[in-house]
Amino acid sequence: MTQVIHQPAREIRVVDRSDVIVVGGGPAGISAAVSAARNGASVTLLERYPYVGGLASGGMVLVLDDMINQLEITVRGICMEMIERMKRWDLCVTPTDRDQLIEFRETPEAWQRWARWGLFDFHTQSMPHPICFSAAFDPDGFKRAAYDMIGESRVKLRTHSWFSSAIVEDGAIKGVICQTKDGMQAIMGDVVIDTTGDLDVAASAGASHIESNFILTTVSRWGGVDTEAAERFEQQEPEAFKRLDHEAKRLIGGCWSFWWLKTPLPGVVWLNCPHMPKLSGLKVEDLTEAEIEGRRRIASLLDFAREKLPGFENAYVVDFAPQTGVRQTRQLEGEYVVMKDDVMGRRHFADTVCRGRDYYTPYRSMLPKEVDQLIVAGRHYSATPQAQKSSREIPPCMAMGEAAGVAATIALNAGVSVKKADIKAIQKQMRAQGADPGDVPSENATYLEAAE
Ligand SMILES: Cc1cc2nc3c(=O)[nH]c(=O)nc-3n(C[C@H](O)[C@H](O)[C@H](O)COP(=O)(O)OP(=O)(O)OC[C@H]3O[C@@H](n4cnc5c(N)ncnc54)[C@H](O)[C@@H]3O)c2cc1C
Repeated sequence: MTQVIHQPAREIRVVDRSDVIVVGGGPAGISAAVSAARNGASVTLLERYPYVGGLASGGMVLVLDDMINQLEITVRGICMEMIERMKRWDLCVTPTDRDQLIEFRETPEAWQRWARWGLFDFHTQSMPHPICFSAAFDPDGFKRAAYDMIGESRVKLRTHSWFSSAIVEDGAIKGVICQTKDGMQAIMGDVVIDTTGDLDVAASAGASHIESNFILTTVSRWGGVDTEAAERFEQQEPEAFKRLDHEAKRLIGGCWSFWWLKTPLPGVVWLNCPHMPKLSGLKVEDLTEAEIEGRRRIASLLDFAREKLPGFENAYVVDFAPQTGVRQTRQLEGEYVVMKDDVMGRRHFADTVCRGRDYYTPYRSMLPKEVDQLIVAGRHYSATPQAQKSSREIPPCMAMGEAAGVAATIALNAGVSVKKADIKAIQKQMRAQGADPGDVPSENATYLEAAE
């Protein structure tokens, strides 16, 4: 039987007030906060951990992909700005320029050169996958670029602030309460953007949602890897490589086809594995188990790699990502629920405000039905679990955040609720700041008959 206790009511200090509060400093949250602040709003960005970046830094998810439609770059704006900043510090690697890619992208040479960076279009059926514009980056580079942009745009950043509950009055969100070392703190605002990835704010505010689940992963980085020797072995002795790779995958117990990828740091690779299904990113017991089980599997993989895999003789663990790799937990059931067919069929919507590779995201999928003045952006947006799996990469989450920041300021400036924000004005402003709002559909977009 579950026991419960009741807590007495208590006074909570109001520590800050802003036009826009963004909860969750991951890719979507950074974009939302910077975008809203650049459009003139006062913005407070709240983050539970000591650093910003979410899965892109603390989770050490180190490839930005899902941002091209064939050769057209469809996620630009703040995401591209971060790529360019990181490239200036040699902390980000992208394939050669567009003209070269047209000729080059489907050749064996291109595959040999770029595949181990993870810079290929895994959504195509053709093998090897075409090389495409995407970015391999360094997690601390991502933090540095984010801090610079947050500082330049005068976002008020409050880290070590764990959101615990929403303040809702008369159907509209008025602020949030965070748990901190200094006790509970309230932050009040006119618009709240939920970018926690797990829908913490919207769920607490009473928005409809579903709970869902996908694999958990404890990402790690290894150093001391002779990547040239490893790639040479893979390319020159494919049969021997296949046998050893198969054995490595058996030890991992679930992974994508490439279990290690290169990073901008010489000799350092990242491991986007193991896959641990049936564990929930919302349950303390499961998250604890994932940490221990993931480390156990990687330790036995390292022993094997050092002994058997050319290039890995001197490999060692640099670090495990401080943040557990959680892909899916809660999905909003908002004004529109994006379906897998919408994503795969490239369905265009009149209220599209941003896009991923070749699909379009309607503004309604960022709006809860029941709660006003709340916008949701990032991997927990209103989509079915199947649709989310194909549309949750970092760049589209950043594009959603950027659109949310624009929408919040447009609504505030017009004195209307966020549900009534002028879609054309959002699209226009997204374009003005270098993003692709998806208002002009590509040639391969579709228009399904069903009501939008
Ligand atoms: C192992 C793994 C591999 C992946 N591989 C790729 C890949 O190769 N390429 C790619 O583009 N995408 C990849 N993804 C997907 C991608 O990382 C995520 O979908 C993306 O980071 C989502 O961004 P987000 O901002 O919505 O959420 P998150 O990155 O989860 O950020 C949420 C932020 O909110 C904060 N937060 C959460 N709860 C609270 C709270 N209660 N109070 C305060 N702050 C809170 C978190 O600390 C975090 O900073 C991968 C994901 C995983 C887990």
